[in-house]
Amino acid sequence: METQKVQVAVIGSGFGGLTAASLLAKTGLQMAVLEQNNYPGGCASSYKRKGYWFETGATTLVGLDEEMPLHYLLEQTGIQLPLLHLDTPMQVRLSDGTLLTRYPDLEDWIREAERVFGGQGQRPFWETCFQISQKVWRTSLKQLSFPFGSLGDLWQAATAVRWEQLGLVPKAFQTVKDLLAQHGLLHNKRFVSFVDQQLLITAQNHHQEVNVLFGATALCYTLYGNYYVLGGLRKLSESLVEYLEQHHGQMLYRRFVKQITPAESGNYLIDTEKGLVEAEFVVCGLPLNNVHQLFQSTDTKKKLERYLLPPEDVNGALTWGLVFERSSSTPQVLHHQIHVPGKVPFIGSESIFVSLSHPQDHQRAAPDMCVASVSTHVARPKEQWIEEKKELEQWVVQFLASQGFFLEDQVKFVQAATPGAWIEWTGREWGQVGGYPQYQGIKPWQMKDARLDGHKAYLCGDTVYPGQGIPGVCLSGIIAAHKLLRDHFKEKVNVLHQ
Ligand SMILES: Cc1cc2nc3c(=O)[nH]c(=O)nc-3n(C[C@H](O)[C@H](O)[C@H](O)COP(=O)(O)OP(=O)(O)OC[C@H]3O[C@@H](n4cnc5c(N)ncnc54)[C@H](O)[C@@H]3O)c2cc1C
Repeated sequence: METQKVQVAVIGSGFGGLTAASLLAKTGLQMAVLEQNNYPGGCASSYKRKGYWFETGATTLVGLDEEMPLHYLLEQTGIQLPLLHLDTPMQVRLSDGTLLTRYPDLEDWIREAERVFGGQGQRPFWETCFQISQKVWRTSLKQLSFPFGSLGDLWQAATAVRWEQLGLVPKAFQTVKDLLAQHGLLHNKRFVSFVDQQLLITAQNHHQEVNVLFGATALCYTLYGNYYVLGGLRKLSESLVEYLEQHHGQMLYRRFVKQITPAESGNYLIDTEKGLVEAEFVVCGLPLNNVHQLFQSTDTKKKLERYLLPPEDVNGALTWGLVFERSSSTPQVLHHQIHVPGKVPFIGSESIFVSLSHPQDHQRAAPDMCVASVSTHVARPKEQWIEEKKELEQWVVQFLASQGFFLEDQVKFVQAATPGAWIEWTGREWGQVGGYPQYQGIKPWQMKDARLDGHKAYLCGDTVYPGQGIPGVCLSGIIAAHKLLRDHFKEKVNVLHQ
């Protein structure tokens, strides 16, 4: 079989890889995206079953406000997404049955938090978090050389630095636990439990581990523009794929990459299940644990080793797809975090996240039906092989019926997917999802930066800086594209600002 030659090969069509691919395609580089699956999007995609569209993983979308990564991506590419703005981003049900609404306005939210958790400390806690989150977002796109991997990066950062940005550094040394303590909230058990479950879905860890920089930003995501994607999250990646193809890029599906080796020419030889691809540049949009396995060069392997997390430190997910008849009791709010009294059976997680299809979204379900995507964390996915799928399907129907989402006989379909399914869908080692959890011992500047081997290979995705979520991996793709251009095509960097 003949070796296919491309200028830049992006491995994986997750949102990180597709962001980098779209921006680089804009500058005229010849792009090819190699994807093991037969559709794009990875953890942020949708699949069709029985005529309904279910979300694979991600369901909430933020990052579109000014100075945020998706805003930048859409502005640079002119891509338009089928979005609906959500007036109410989320509701949370505590295990004692209390319902609280995460209003998008700070004052409304503080009033709600005080109503549910008591007056002490709520206002200063949330005002502090919101201020930090605003500074973090304002800084994120101004410091595209961060984390620094070269003197050039440092110079770049120094020329862009502002006092406000330096003021954020001490926040990386504090944890959310410190912040709770400062505001007299550490002994407010209900509030700490609320904070923990909110952090788990946004930073993949608890208040003892998550630093204030990430934690404050994560806790405040409902205070920014929250959107629903009509047709499902797959529309995000499909829009980027369309842009890529209009800019002479190609999508190569069913191309599982087995190995990447340096060629004598200085290029990379990419061994896929459908033959060899030779690329001058590589951008890997896979988790670091997977990337580590692809590179045979001991030098590159060694460079990555100190960034790898063991399986006991990452999370997997159990997800359910449900279809039920809409009725007058179907909740109006689309996203719900529900604390589970006595924990989720067999798994032991403390909450589930439920996202409903929008009543105006007739692509995903007919007007009289609703699709629910439900997920929960699975700790130590390598050890926890879930055999009780049927029992968990029954449990989720009964539990959501008890919460008033529907009557049991209104449910037309339910199916659970375990971390084993994630291995198949996304190829991620151990079925790990959601990126590396935030750990106290790992400061933002100690996360892996976008340069993979110091040569012509780059990295993005949710296990490198800045980490989890669609806005996070979008930023990582923007950074990878910028670093590649600055290192090899300085004259093209400005194309990204036209
Ligand atoms: C259950 C769940 C709920 C979530 N909820 C949200 C949410 O509501 N909002 C939010 O913002 N984020 C959410 N996230 C997180 C978010 O979806 C991910 O962080 C993000 O989509 C990851 O993107 P990525 O680019 O890093 O990689 P991935 O999405 O992992 O994409 C990697 C791609 O590479 C492909 N691939 C893997 N190995 C190979 C190989 N060897 N060769 C070729 N291709 C390969 C995979 O098939 C995949 O398409 C959620 C995640 C999960 C799992």
